[in-house]
Amino acid sequence: MRLLLLAPPGAGKGTQGERLAAWSGVRHIAAGDLLRAEARAGDRLGREIAAYQDRGDLVPDQIVLDVLTPVVTEAAARGGYILDGFPRTLPQAIAAAELAARLGVTVHAAVYLHAPEAVLTQRLLDRASQGGRSDDTADVIRHRLQVFAETTGPLVPYYTERGILVAVDADQPPDSVTADIQTRLAGLTRAAGR
Ligand code: ADP
Repeated sequence: MRLLLLAPPGAGKGTQGERLAAWSGVRHIAAGDLLRAEARAGDRLGREIAAYQDRGDLVPDQIVLDVLTPVVTEAAARGGYILDGFPRTLPQAIAAAELAARLGVTVHAAVYLHAPEAVLTQRLLDRASQGGRSDDTADVIRHRLQVFAETTGPLVPYYTERGILVAVDADQPPDSVTADIQTRLAGLTRAAGR
């Protein structure tokens, strides 16, 4: 199973990514988590990554690719991956397709989790009040949602055109979102005769 999870902040990518990985037996690769781990290293690259993340700006494509490529390559060799939060820009999507081609694999679906912006904002503010991340402040949340709309949003038509977009309503309890994704993926697999 090879999946991409495309979703604005607060849509539940992390939760669904973990569940889908456990369900399908492949690795959950969360771009944000890997970048935060690099940031914690505290060296020059780490400090640069932390600065982008704290502002809610995207980390430059080349840095993201350097961090993600070896992890995706290893996961692909072990049966697949659930890529959460990557790609997030058109150049990253092109790089992801080139990487898959190089590895001789195809991506089964790009799962797009959507919810109204007011719902996303409220979830992130709730997470912040429970001691969330340093980028969960009202201003940075607003900026992250704007970056998603402007930069990552265009990947929705990109994957629709490629016939692999699976859009799921994320404004439901987590179990219902998981069930919807699983039903849609099972339908895809049946349609492809796999
Ligand atoms: P969220 O989706 O809630 O913002 P993530 O953990 O997925 O949480 O991402 C947090 C931050 O990590 C982003 O704001 C950005 O700075 C960085 N990041 C994560 N994935 C990418 C990516 N594919 N490209 C560039 N930056 C990324």
